[in-house]
Amino acid sequence: MKFDTIIIGGGLSGLACGIKLAESGKRCAIISTGQSALHFCSGSFDFLGYVNGFDVETPASTLEKVIPQGHPYALMGAKRAVEVAAVVPEFFARMGVKVNGSIERNHYRITPLGIMKPTWLSLDDFTVIADKNKLPWAKVSIQNIEGFLDFHTAFIADNFEKMGTTCTITAFNLPELKHLRTNPTEMRSANLAKTFENVDVVKRAAELINRNAGDAEAVVLPAVFGLFDDKAVQELKRAVKLPVCFVPVIPPSVPGIRTQIMMRRRFQELGGTYLLGDTVNDAVVADGVVKSVKTANLGDTVLEADNFVLATGSFFSHGLVAHPDKVVEPLFGVDVKADADRDNWYNSSLFEEQPYMSYGVIVDDSFRTATGGNTISNLYAAGAVLSSFNPIKEASGAGVSLITALHVADLIINKK
Ligand SMILES: Cc1cc2nc3c(=O)[nH]c(=O)nc-3n(C[C@H](O)[C@H](O)[C@H](O)COP(=O)(O)OP(=O)(O)OC[C@H]3O[C@@H](n4cnc5c(N)ncnc54)[C@H](O)[C@@H]3O)c2cc1C
Repeated sequence: MKFDTIIIGGGLSGLACGIKLAESGKRCAIISTGQSALHFCSGSFDFLGYVNGFDVETPASTLEKVIPQGHPYALMGAKRAVEVAAVVPEFFARMGVKVNGSIERNHYRITPLGIMKPTWLSLDDFTVIADKNKLPWAKVSIQNIEGFLDFHTAFIADNFEKMGTTCTITAFNLPELKHLRTNPTEMRSANLAKTFENVDVVKRAAELINRNAGDAEAVVLPAVFGLFDDKAVQELKRAVKLPVCFVPVIPPSVPGIRTQIMMRRRFQELGGTYLLGDTVNDAVVADGVVKSVKTANLGDTVLEADNFVLATGSFFSHGLVAHPDKVVEPLFGVDVKADADRDNWYNSSLFEEQPYMSYGVIVDDSFRTATGGNTISNLYAAGAVLSSFNPIKEASGAGVSLITALHVADLIINKK
């Protein structure tokens, strides 16, 4: 089988790259082992949230002043990174993923514990908070679903009250959820979301929510609505009489899974081949060029392409693997940036910056990988597999993934 581009990894970066290539008429395949970081996503996409521990208010204008050499944004140039970021909302809109936020000004998102974190874009489900120290409501009704343990109402109330918002906590129940309660492990976000795919169930939930809300100005609910698209979210927002503030819950992330499903749908509608549940386990590289790959499921079938994109994620997705004495990229064995001394990989102080977080694949300024310093001319890397950025310390994870993926797609499209 022959493609223009084969993308290895179907998380945020692999999908974004594949969609952009397919939109320009390229014949692409995405091969992905399985779950990605999107299944754990907060529902917000960070571009640059912190510099030296301080919140970034204006990421576009701040980036140029602070971005260190070698950082993925620096490799493409800060101006270009901001340019690409500016088109992301429209890119998402084309697949039905609605986001709020702007590259000119960060907003705040609410974490599962009710803490505020700066971010760039948030899915339309979520309330965009302008002021870190003040919520837009004097009183809210926090409502859980009876028996759901992954939504921490008391923590949320505690943190909201510190910001001067009075909270009441209640829970509602529906007969449709009875079967989930027979086993506590079934009472998880994705299963709840499946039940709420039924519009009638959402309407009945809304009635109970309205009844519980009392004199609150808004209701705070777990983000367990809208698994395959955002219809349940929109229906609930319509039927609940007060503004709805969804708060992310302990993973799996329903809004994150939905985003992955909608991106995958868009890629396939554009004619892309998506091989889910398959793993690239072999590659032929000769004279600095990747010729072909093979996968676990397709056995001896050879998959050829002019270009390959490594979008296999970081340690979390096994795009990087830590051995006792070294960190490697396991598929092609391309050059990685990592300290040779294991003792330097981590900081024993858990909340300090962890060096291993910025380990990853080394690329040139065209995002091409290398082995032993020799460029592989048609093997690009994008997303969390890249080195020289720290998604936690900078709050830049999804930004780097999306922006490097779209940039790599453009490099391939414009390749002579
Ligand atoms: C738990 C978690 C939560 C996060 N939450 C957020 C958030 O809320 N907001 C934010 O801005 N950032 C977040 N991040 C940062 C995150 O890294 C990026 O947001 C982004 O989603 C990473 O996308 P990616 O496609 O590069 O990698 P991944 O999402 O890790 O996807 C890589 C994919 O490659 C596949 N793969 C690996 N090896 C192979 C192979 N050999 N063959 C085929 N497939 C393979 C994996 O199965 C996986 O599906 C989070 C990161 C983690 C780890």
